[in-house]
Amino acid sequence: MRRTLYEADHDAFRETVRRFVAKEIAPRHVEWEAAGIVPRELYTAAGAQGLLGWAVPEEFGGGGQPDFRFNAVLGEEVVAAGVAGSGNGLCLQNDVCLPYFLDLATPEQKARWLPGIASGELITAIAMTEPGVGSDLASMTTTARREGNVYVVNGAKTFITSGINADLVITAVKTDPTQRHKGMSLLVIERGMPGFERGRNLDKLGQHAQDTAELSFTDVRVPVENLLGAEGRAFAHLVDRLPQERLGIAVAGVAGAAAALAMTLEHVTSRTAFGQPIGAFQNSRFTLATLATEVDIAQHYVDDCIRALNAGDLTAVDAAKAKWWCTELQGRAVDAGLQLHGGYGYMTEYPIARAYADARVTRIYGGTTEIMKEVIGRDLGL
Ligand SMILES: Cc1cc2nc3c(=O)[nH]c(=O)nc-3n(C[C@H](O)[C@H](O)[C@H](O)COP(=O)(O)OP(=O)(O)OC[C@H]3O[C@@H](n4cnc5c(N)ncnc54)[C@H](O)[C@@H]3O)c2cc1C
Repeated sequence: MRRTLYEADHDAFRETVRRFVAKEIAPRHVEWEAAGIVPRELYTAAGAQGLLGWAVPEEFGGGGQPDFRFNAVLGEEVVAAGVAGSGNGLCLQNDVCLPYFLDLATPEQKARWLPGIASGELITAIAMTEPGVGSDLASMTTTARREGNVYVVNGAKTFITSGINADLVITAVKTDPTQRHKGMSLLVIERGMPGFERGRNLDKLGQHAQDTAELSFTDVRVPVENLLGAEGRAFAHLVDRLPQERLGIAVAGVAGAAAALAMTLEHVTSRTAFGQPIGAFQNSRFTLATLATEVDIAQHYVDDCIRALNAGDLTAVDAAKAKWWCTELQGRAVDAGLQLHGGYGYMTEYPIARAYADARVTRIYGGTTEIMKEVIGRDLGL
């Protein structure tokens, strides 16, 4: 079914993204996957092409265009090109981190940080998860004790996307450890602050080029000027912005499912067995027909979520539905696609094998499928 979400400006932007991915990412993706990280220059190159911070007001060096359809185009193209590991950090900067700075930063903080975020000179990350706490965020234990004009931060975070490359880490801390949700605040912890150390760049199943790191904080003295939003309000700040993060993951999920379908279609029409193309077997036809149907239907739900986000009325429940459904669909698509590739599907030189590995995490990060169903279940009064 024809999509009606995009207009001419988005189509033009898609061409820019495609050219950028083909020229700046695809030729070096394998090298970066082996290195476990992308070079910082990828961010400044993306910034120069207008692929970062289009939502940043023009006075701070951005495009002044807070239209999530541009975010969706970038997310779709990165996944369609099979370079999720190299491109995800750019999407994280636009989809997940930037809204905190746009919505919560003071004028002084905006002037300090937004120009660098838009140009790619400042790389951002968000650190909520700790070694002992993921889904149950309010149980986090990283503390920030106020001492005059600084917060003294102690604790550790893990699984932090862009954790090695990041210059600005939006860090969830407990400013009042006696409280759960109401004791949490957000501090921007900056590269080079004494006591802020990066641990391992974690070795993952997929998305190898995306650095995912452990971070530790030992008596880090963070100026009160780096408090983002209101003290004690971090949980609400996070909850308000999670729908956009989850929608971004859903967008990539549908794009990943569509890409798996396309590469599998190509394989089953060229490979033969028992004197006929693999695709001619009823099992192959039914499998791919099912996926084609699900991708189409999921796409239209996600497109409506994007419209709702732009209109300011995407609910947490609708975003949770999009996130779990689309990422589970992506999981089914890469699994079925790999199966139809036979032994070739297990070889990492085949895109379907890499897509399979890259996709597994989408059902986990940004809130697991189970947590999404909890959000939806609570809305049903259960
Ligand atoms: C590659 C990668 C990148 C990531 N990037 C970031 C990042 O940038 N910043 C960040 O802060 N975090 C990040 N994360 C962390 C991610 O958000 C968490 O891993 C995720 O929220 C799950 O938390 P957990 O790993 O502690 O699992 P747990 O919370 O321990 O959950 C384990 C299992 O128990 C289930 N479970 C937990 N609670 C319930 C419940 N109430 N009902 C039913 N089932 C439940 C979960 O669904 C899951 O299946 C990243 C993770 C990965 C793998």
